[in-house]
Amino acid sequence: LEPAYQFMLRVVIPGGVMTSAQWLVMDDLAHKYGNGTLRITTRQAFQMHGVLKWNLKKTIRSINDTLMTTLAACGDVNRNVMSNPNPYQSEVHAEVYEWARKVSDHLSPRTPAYHEIWLDGEKVVDSLADGAEVEPIYGPVYLPRKFKIGMAVPPSNDVDVFSQDLGFIAIIEEGKLVGFNVSVGGGMGMTHGDTSTYPQLGRVIGFCRPEQLLDVSEKTVTIQRDYGNRSVRKNARFKYTIDRHGIEWFVSELHERLGWQLEAARAYHFDHNGERYGWVKGTNGKWNLSLYIQSGRIHDEDNNALMTGLREIAKIHTGDFRLTPNQNLIIANVSSTKKGKITELAKQYGLTDGAHHSALRRSALSCVAFPTCGLAMAEAERYLPSLLDKLEVILDKAGLRDEEINIRMTGCPNSCARPALGEISFIGKSLGRYNMYLGAGFAGDRLNKIYKENVDETEILEILEPIIHQYAAERNNGEHFGDFVIRAGYVKAVTNGLNFHD
Ligand code: SF4
Repeated sequence: LEPAYQFMLRVVIPGGVMTSAQWLVMDDLAHKYGNGTLRITTRQAFQMHGVLKWNLKKTIRSINDTLMTTLAACGDVNRNVMSNPNPYQSEVHAEVYEWARKVSDHLSPRTPAYHEIWLDGEKVVDSLADGAEVEPIYGPVYLPRKFKIGMAVPPSNDVDVFSQDLGFIAIIEEGKLVGFNVSVGGGMGMTHGDTSTYPQLGRVIGFCRPEQLLDVSEKTVTIQRDYGNRSVRKNARFKYTIDRHGIEWFVSELHERLGWQLEAARAYHFDHNGERYGWVKGTNGKWNLSLYIQSGRIHDEDNNALMTGLREIAKIHTGDFRLTPNQNLIIANVSSTKKGKITELAKQYGLTDGAHHSALRRSALSCVAFPTCGLAMAEAERYLPSLLDKLEVILDKAGLRDEEINIRMTGCPNSCARPALGEISFIGKSLGRYNMYLGAGFAGDRLNKIYKENVDETEILEILEPIIHQYAAERNNGEHFGDFVIRAGYVKAVTNGLNFHD
């Protein structure tokens, strides 16, 4: 007898956009082969947990049959390309989303092994010894580490573009997409107690036209392929390659490989990196409903029929679903005739109840951590809601229930929920204990800094209560929490990861 090993499957969904038919397949597979839940990740992908080993192939084939894939959802390749998920908000969003798909396709591994192993494809090559022929971009040994790309449409920085290895910031002039500012060398992960590792912000190095995007993406990836650290894995991410060689070196190397030069970066402005909930009408006349999904987990509970409600909507919805970078969901591209019925279903199944939560809860992000992530040192998804219950009591007393404060929690410093960009963040140290960080920028443009090490819940509440009350009493007009804790002297501002541990 073979042990009942179970696995997590991650599905690549560029820009988080999927059809109703795809939604229904994922829902069905989660019940048939998974643990009956789906999880929206912080990269606009889906995770399905609890797939038994002997069901893996059937599940992957079903995903593939509905024109999605698990290929490159993990591994040392380019991961799910993120994109601002409101493409129907305007023509610009639609264009940016199309570019995200093109970048994703362009950087997708070409290996036939995936099809041979999982999809019963014909064996296309006898030997992968000369992998360069199979993988024109990745070559025979792929990248030193995973690679992440995100595309933002200002004023929203919901993709946390500066956390990406390669970020593109859409530049819109007179209502038209004219190109992208290019940001390189961001990344969130680190290792506790090792100051050679740190979160870093991407740096804007110039501007390219839309038709130059694939070239910039490909050449950037090949530079990391050739210069990334293959000896020390924890220093292998692209941010370390750039910090080791210098940004000027990178720009010069990129220009040489491109054979042309980026133009000077253009002006842009981000307002926030959070979510805007409720119904919004797009410029195409269609409607979009943004729903709050706690920690991205889609399931039914005793008092909540989220998964059933979304299934019922998918059965009649002719638009699409959009997974957001903040683990929420947009029912997008809804016709005026369907809006009434979808509003009714959303109400019937309690899908819009999240609108009544505090702004803190609606801005919260957490990684999955225990029980399904083998790297977790502490709880995140299962614990954050109860911590938020207690923080909401403090916020209510301070009159800050509707104040958006960006809070994040991960079970380890791998930082899947981008905790270095939380105005308040917690990174797991051990069961029930976290390092606590304060002071990131509200628009995802400044890192936070450690405030207290190894704190438990009692200490967290004791620390935060007076700071929150002081913020309520002394904040300047429009001043965000992350800015306030710096002005009030709790932490120093960190605009470069090289100073993160100072
Ligand atoms: Fe990622 Fe660490 Fe959370 Fe696991 S525990 S999901 S590796 S941040």
